[in-house]
Amino acid sequence: MITNNELFHKIYHGDRIPPEEVLHLFSWDLIDLGKAGDMRRRLAYPKEDVGFIMDRIVNFTNICEAACAFCAFHARANLIPSYELTMDDILRKVEELIAVGGTQIMLQGGLHPDYTLRKYIDIVDTVKKRFPKIYLHSFSPAELVHMSRKSALPVDDVVKALKDAGLDSVPGASDLLVDRVRKKVSPKKITVDEWREVIFSLYRNEMKSSATMTYGMGETHEEKIEHLKIIREVQDDTGILQAFIPWSFSPARTRMANMLPATGIDYLKMVAIARIFLDNIIYIQAGWLTEGLKLAQIALTMGANDMGGVLMEEIVVKATGIKTSTHHQELVRIIKNAGKIPVQRDSRYHVIRRFG
Ligand code: SF4
Repeated sequence: MITNNELFHKIYHGDRIPPEEVLHLFSWDLIDLGKAGDMRRRLAYPKEDVGFIMDRIVNFTNICEAACAFCAFHARANLIPSYELTMDDILRKVEELIAVGGTQIMLQGGLHPDYTLRKYIDIVDTVKKRFPKIYLHSFSPAELVHMSRKSALPVDDVVKALKDAGLDSVPGASDLLVDRVRKKVSPKKITVDEWREVIFSLYRNEMKSSATMTYGMGETHEEKIEHLKIIREVQDDTGILQAFIPWSFSPARTRMANMLPATGIDYLKMVAIARIFLDNIIYIQAGWLTEGLKLAQIALTMGANDMGGVLMEEIVVKATGIKTSTHHQELVRIIKNAGKIPVQRDSRYHVIRRFG
């Protein structure tokens, strides 16, 4: 078994850390782990810039046939009323974002039983024709598989059709890539193999994606690393994952509300461990949306190097009772106060504006 000292040297030497060794890091002191995470961040990304993007999530419906136990967003009879946005509603929200200098829209929704590929193409096509400069980082692997099933078409054809209509990239919304857990918390959502297949389909269609991690749903440390291992392997094979975003599961108002939420230390350790293990992903986002701005700020010193979006609107996490919006002045202050240089970036991580 590797000693802590040997592991320390491997990390600081920049070596790739195998899954069985990275597991030891969960027992490390937080400050030591955070320093190691920040050192690996400097290897992957030597600048002190921390980016954020002006974006808006448009959750166009909460009607969802998956009805995951960990989700507080989807419509539930007598509990959460259902809604569907009209095309005019969607266009108005995009217009409002553009009016405040925003550049990216995330269209995401529940797996509506009646929506076929045609519906999604119409949304993308209409938004892109009206606002050709807006970047559409939209849908999710689960939604793409849903479209594929509803339209009886291969995922490759779905991705190509959406790309032709104007879709720019797809968030890799990964939840936890462990089938044992998925069978418990989201049995009707996609499997790990289906998630992987969607990412490879995006790769074949020359589209970018990202990866996320929702932890704190009763998984073991080994399963957390199993998730990271899949992401590292997929990134080795495709190189299309622009960012990794870990966040903790918020049990409030879900059907798993009796679970205790993960703690701040759990989160900071997860960020540092992800940074050390995922040696092939440049951007690790500090998840202010679920962890709060203060914890996200500390994450910037332990391996994270991006603050994600300003999020003019978000509903899915808000459904759990968490505050889900900020403004760029607040992010600039938080980033500067962490000793970093705030930059507004675009969806391809190019700098739009630097706040020196
Ligand atoms: S997490 Fe997504 S797929 Fe699951 S119930 Fe919520 S909206 Fe539906």
